[in-house]
Amino acid sequence: MSLVTLASRESVQRGYEYYQSKKVLSLCKLSDTEMTGTIKGSGNTHYEVFIDTLHPRKSKCNCPHADGKRIICKHIIALYFTAYPKEAEKFYDEVKLRKIEEEKRQEELENKIIKFVKGLKKEELQNIILDLLNDGPEWQYDSFVDIYIEE
Ligand SMILES: [Zn+2]
Repeated sequence: MSLVTLASRESVQRGYEYYQSKKVLSLCKLSDTEMTGTIKGSGNTHYEVFIDTLHPRKSKCNCPHADGKRIICKHIIALYFTAYPKEAEKFYDEVKLRKIEEEKRQEELENKIIKFVKGLKKEELQNIILDLLNDGPEWQYDSFVDIYIEE
């Protein structure tokens, strides 16, 4: 398991932002798999991070969120991405890909809706409009009345 898979999505996202905005002040390699670093927190706080890529669970940070809890926080991720920029790129590409897929799904759904509505018979359409007016939010009802009923 890598540090990125052990961390929450939120921590990875925030850690990436920390990496991007250069909040990692120092990075010191202790061995091929271990390193320490200082990360700038909010305000004037600084946090000390230790990373062990061979045993990711041994990684730690002294911020209030992670201290003594074996949590992979955004500071650990920021240091990790600074040491391994390729991993940061990989994460960024995955996020981009997910976004594109989500947009594609939305577009397909929109097309499905258009096709469905255009295929409706007049009576079906009338019933759906009445249902939407009865079950929908009040603003929709008011807006319908404003536009189509009262001039
Ligand atoms: Zn932390």
